[in-house]
Amino acid sequence: MNVRVPVRVAGRASRAWESVAGSGVAAVLVVDPLDIRWLTGFTGSAGVVVLGPLPVLVVDGRYGEQAAEETSASGCAAAVVVAQHGSTVDDEAVRLVGGAVGFDPAVTTVARTARWRAAGARSLVEVGGFAAMRMVKEPDELARIERAAAITDRALALTEVRPGATEEDVRNRLEESMRREGADGPGYGTIVASGPNSALPHHRPTSRDIRLGDAVVIDAGAEVDGYRSDMTRTTGVGAVDPILASWWEIVAEAQEAGVAAVRPGATGDDVDRAVRLVLDRHGVGEWFVHGTGHGVGLAIHEGPWLRRGSIDVLEEGMVVTVEPGLYRRDVGGVRIEDLLVVTRTASRHLTHSPKDAPCPQSAPTT
Ligand code: ZN
Ligand code: ZN
Repeated sequence: MNVRVPVRVAGRASRAWESVAGSGVAAVLVVDPLDIRWLTGFTGSAGVVVLGPLPVLVVDGRYGEQAAEETSASGCAAAVVVAQHGSTVDDEAVRLVGGAVGFDPAVTTVARTARWRAAGARSLVEVGGFAAMRMVKEPDELARIERAAAITDRALALTEVRPGATEEDVRNRLEESMRREGADGPGYGTIVASGPNSALPHHRPTSRDIRLGDAVVIDAGAEVDGYRSDMTRTTGVGAVDPILASWWEIVAEAQEAGVAAVRPGATGDDVDRAVRLVLDRHGVGEWFVHGTGHGVGLAIHEGPWLRRGSIDVLEEGMVVTVEPGLYRRDVGGVRIEDLLVVTRTASRHLTHSPKDAPCPQSAPTT
């Protein structure tokens, strides 16, 4: 049982409804579990929110009690309806709408809309989703993300990366420390990528022994009340290949340039461009194979997107990563990632772990 004070969601359902009320629908059927959690505080895996002037959370028999407790603890105004025997949450939700049904095409499957038609929905209307509303964090949400980031900082400081330990050992110790420091668990699958594995941006930890001379990329975050944090550090175990050491300097410079570009009014493309400029100037841009960053909240990857061509505009209260990296099969990889909150004028770091440069291979002595 979670004894912490729940995140307050009061006001969100009415704001969300106002944002779509002009579309002529009688209500929107919200099916994405993270949208549902954000709107109502309900953390169960199955349910539908009938988002109209008077919001209703429809759940099945397993979740009746939990839904009532969580919505009232979160200050949610939605009524809770439990689908009765022989009726599904979809049947019940459609029955409650009584008019044109709105839905978010980005998160609603075709199978789902077919079920709604079968349940009697006559007109289905695509409306915008609520992912954009989730991008700006309220103080309650920011406090959770900041806590998750601080926990990860402390856990990383407690995790020794030494020769002989396996990638899995490091992952296990890090995740154990996160839980001991107060996390509900890791915020996503922790990445520990050593030696040649560091060239793979999404490597999953293996039983490979970490060796002297390895670069080790650790990408980790914690979860607190459903909110996540995200951070990457690259360290050297002993002296690393001079190419990796120089890459580390370049990535650190690019990352700082990206962080400096994060401010209200900047687009995702602006931040991405600031990072790529530095990498290109050093002639290594071709080895940066992913986007510069993303929003973080209830989902580990959500808007705003900081990547080439992104027109997402940063606003105060958004939480984003800046995470350039360089990867080459025959060399290895380096990534540095911080989590930031956009402030009134620029940004503030939520992750504070030191970024120690790995020592380069010392010149051979004769
Ligand atoms: Zn990450
Ligand atoms: Zn990330």
